[in-house]
Amino acid sequence: MNQAQIANLAEDGRVYYDMTGTENPCFGCGACCRHFRVSFYQGELETQPGGHVPADLAMPITPFRVCMKGTESGLGSCIALQADMRCGIYENRPSVCREFPAIIPNGSLNPECVRLRALYGVD
Ligand code: SF4
Ligand code: SF4
Repeated sequence: MNQAQIANLAEDGRVYYDMTGTENPCFGCGACCRHFRVSFYQGELETQPGGHVPADLAMPITPFRVCMKGTESGLGSCIALQADMRCGIYENRPSVCREFPAIIPNGSLNPECVRLRALYGVD
């Protein structure tokens, strides 16, 4: 297997990305999981019909939206980020994480990854 980043079309038309294989472009630096407020619609929680994100790892921020604990103020590490900088709930991570690509359509590393890796001193 040498696949890298796979794009999947979701039922609602959004594109989700999965990292796989030996040529995975994601450095696994966890910079994205330490920088953004990771917010999403509360319907993605496992407590909702069809939801899958562990509810005890999220907190409400508006009546309809939640965020991963630790990221509520931004510049905080997501509670699901493991010590090895991998996602501890990869199969059940929220849509906002699935939508963030490590590589962009021209084949380059996402400029946001470049920026964040420099910001966190991991390049
Ligand atoms: S910042 Fe980019 S390279 Fe680093 S973990 Fe996130 S997606 Fe992967
Ligand atoms: S849920 Fe996983 S991929 Fe999303 S921010 Fe947290 S650790 Fe990163």
